[in-house]
Amino acid sequence: MRRNLQVVYDTVVRRNQGEPEFHQAVHEVLESLGPVFAQHPEYIEAAVLDRIVEPERQIMFRVPWIDDAGKVRVNRGYRVEFNSALGPYKGGLRFHPTVYSGIIKFLGFEQVFKNSLTGLAMGGGKGGSDFDPHDKSDNEVMRFCQSFMTELSRHIGEYTDVPAGDIGVGGREIGYLFGQYKRLTNRFEAGVLTGKGLTWGGSLARTEATGYGLIHFVTEMLRMEGQDLDGKVISVSGSGNVAIYAIEMAQQLGGRPITISDSSGYVVDPNGIDLELLKRVKLEERGRVSDYAALCSGARFVAGGSVWDVPVEIALPCATQNEIRGDHAVTLVKHGAKLVAEGANMPSTPEAIETFRQAGVKFGPAKAANAGGVATSGLEMQQNASREHWSFEKTATRLETIMSNLHIRCLEAADRYGCPGDYALGANAAGFVKVADAMLDQGVV
Ligand code: GLU
Repeated sequence: MRRNLQVVYDTVVRRNQGEPEFHQAVHEVLESLGPVFAQHPEYIEAAVLDRIVEPERQIMFRVPWIDDAGKVRVNRGYRVEFNSALGPYKGGLRFHPTVYSGIIKFLGFEQVFKNSLTGLAMGGGKGGSDFDPHDKSDNEVMRFCQSFMTELSRHIGEYTDVPAGDIGVGGREIGYLFGQYKRLTNRFEAGVLTGKGLTWGGSLARTEATGYGLIHFVTEMLRMEGQDLDGKVISVSGSGNVAIYAIEMAQQLGGRPITISDSSGYVVDPNGIDLELLKRVKLEERGRVSDYAALCSGARFVAGGSVWDVPVEIALPCATQNEIRGDHAVTLVKHGAKLVAEGANMPSTPEAIETFRQAGVKFGPAKAANAGGVATSGLEMQQNASREHWSFEKTATRLETIMSNLHIRCLEAADRYGCPGDYALGANAAGFVKVADAMLDQGVV
């Protein structure tokens, strides 16, 4: 890493102690930006980098709520408003027991570049809580969301900060959060949250968007090699929204996803995942992947273990951060994987990314490959602002166009900065330059 970049990185580590995921996300970006700074000394002079790694605002708050047994519980809430150079802060809320400030900061930092890449007017932010919705009743989730929003409502707004979902936050949670925001403010401000229900300001295709967008990006990557998804064997990790709709779109294009996973293990179904059964188990019954395996004759559940042991041509990590470690990457390469594209945020460790690079595996980084979700949130905001409700086809077609433009933007930036075909560098550089130029325009703020 260049010396001036190393100084910025060292400051990040010093100021954000005990937050390795945030350090990792910053390191990955800084490491790749050397060629950008060589061409743009003005960014160094204006200390753009020193500013971009420091969130504009960080909010941390107590979330007290009462469980079904009448006991008072306390969680911690976060909203990190990272960068507003391109638009209001935009990014999801994650409710998961592993959430702490390091996770929210890494996600917020990535979101700044991802949102820039979409070409839409959105800054970057992220929030969440260490609350676990999985073992809670609907009423407990509602009371938690109401308490969380009681504080969050002071900081958000359609022109200020627009949260959405992430792990543990889906349509149910967004509904409760919106209801409480409306009650507190006495305003039906549709554009304050995205991922809303379809009858009260939500956008068609938002639920499917991250998974669909991932497959659009993969299709573009393959097209560059004169290939398509038809007949390709694919491993998918995770079994949430991203995984389910990536599987759906991959199947529509003739691909054969054969795995799903959750924290208890993975399922391999050599005939291809039964999408209808998966949706029933996960979306209607809120079940586990082992429940899917129990209901599907050809499928095998492997407790523990790694989904990356399964030989495939294409791997799509759609679960969570750092789920593909270096040794997993070595196994994937040994089994002949040719393409990896990230549906989750930062699912590959630096060692895994290096292994893919050395082996010539095509690598679609999260900032680009999973940007379809937030891009469609941007489309939801457009519909809210104009009080329109677009058809599924119109929204899905716009998403496809956004993903294909974004793919071109990555490749053009990779060319311009001397590393043709390097999507990781291309995504970082293209995302960064747009934010950096806006920051220069807006002065030292
Ligand atoms: N949580 C999603 C992401 O990681 C979506 C954020 C949004 O729609 O604002 O990009």
